Amino acid sequence: MRNRIVIVGGGTGGTILANLLAAKLHREIVNNKVELLMISDSPFHYYKPAFMYVAFNAFFKQELTRSQQSLLRPEIKFIVDKAERFDLSQRVIHCHSGKQYPYDFLVFATGCVPWPDRIDGLAQAGDHFYQYQAARQLAQKLATIEKGRIFITVSFPETPNVPHQCGIAPIETTLMLDDYLRRRGVRKAVEIVYTYPSVSQLLRNCLFLQRPTAEALPGIFAARDIRHQRGFTLSRVDAQQKIAYSAEGEEQPFDILMATPPIRAVEAVCNTGLSEGNTGEGWLPTDHQTLQVYGQQGVYVIGDTVDLPVSKAGGSCHNQAPVIADNIVAELRLGQTVSHYDGKVQAIAQMGLQAGMPLVYDYRHDVLPTPSTKVGGMLRNGFNRGLYWATVRGLI
Ligand SMILES: Cc1cc2nc3c(=O)[nH]c(=O)nc-3n(C[C@H](O)[C@H](O)[C@H](O)COP(=O)(O)OP(=O)(O)OC[C@H]3O[C@@H](n4cnc5c(N)ncnc54)[C@H](O)[C@@H]3O)c2cc1C
Repeated sequence: MRNRIVIVGGGTGGTILANLLAAKLHREIVNNKVELLMISDSPFHYYKPAFMYVAFNAFFKQELTRSQQSLLRPEIKFIVDKAERFDLSQRVIHCHSGKQYPYDFLVFATGCVPWPDRIDGLAQAGDHFYQYQAARQLAQKLATIEKGRIFITVSFPETPNVPHQCGIAPIETTLMLDDYLRRRGVRKAVEIVYTYPSVSQLLRNCLFLQRPTAEALPGIFAARDIRHQRGFTLSRVDAQQKIAYSAEGEEQPFDILMATPPIRAVEAVCNTGLSEGNTGEGWLPTDHQTLQVYGQQGVYVIGDTVDLPVSKAGGSCHNQAPVIADNIVAELRLGQTVSHYDGKVQAIAQMGLQAGMPLVYDYRHDVLPTPSTKVGGMLRNGFNRGLYWATVRGLI
């Protein structure tokens, strides 16, 4: 009997995983013992980290887009459709087209979406760089501001110990903003204020979600005349008056509110009812080691949809994909899982427009910040402009 593996979502995690599985199961697929399907709601693949460069007019849509089919090995059947309902008891996916796809193995790889509506007034008055159109709108404001106050906020999910998307992105964009306004010659007339909420995962009153980096930040900000403030948990925005209110009882004016907004899983995932929290965010309960969804046979989750304490980042997908691939192959061949995820995430942080800082951490070790360098910046540029596409093809 033929086994069908269905990966839903053709972003970073789904694509790396599909290509790894196709390589490992090549013989079974060719001999019609295994069928490998990817269902995604878009024919295109977007390199999402480039959205933050879009906000500084340094990247445009065609540069960060590829046809999804072109990134997949030929053993993979690619279907453009939207998963609307997961019937986990019958093991069937119901799609927008009306088609139904039964599965033996299912991988959720549907990412997450910004959810500014969770905070009153944020969708009307805030800007962000986590989607292309939003980043273009912010780019227009940043390219024309002559004086005033740019106020930076970070909102965490309400599910305990789950981070926002790409932990380092608010720092990267704050430093890029400083460089960008200096280049434009308006930096002296524009105040930059970086804030962080009182609760950031397990930490309290810090400037970042891990202590060693949080402790390095005041010096980095002081050298650039960036103001910073702990304990600002965005709770409401007055779009008319342009005032941000915090849960701690403060109010702060802004000309541009550059926010890391709340996020949630996509609707069909939220509707599975599998999430353990009652926050409406929908993160799937994930076995920290095997990356299986708790309580479900042959069901895995990768990337931004997990409820793990690690960064929702491409650098997480890169390390999770081989674990899931090994476990699915082992379940098929041996009837049991064999591989464990150690929480590893790696990336090269963009520290300003030119410099970069390689970073790595896992469940047990925090990032140890090092001085950012131009070589780091070149590495990051190389990843943005080429290595990413080799990574999702499963080549590196
Ligand atoms: C501004 C920004 C900066 C970032 N910076 C970095 C960085 O520097 N380093 C880093 O490692 N990571 C970074 N990230 C995070 C990284 O992009 C994500 O963590 C990564 O893309 C997550 O991969 P994923 O496969 O979980 O989801 P995604 O890549 O978002 O893919 C989800 C896929 O699912 C599809 N889909 C959604 N719903 C459905 C449905 N119902 N049916 C079918 N298909 C569906 C989507 O179309 C998409 O193809 C950044 C992200 C942003 C936005």
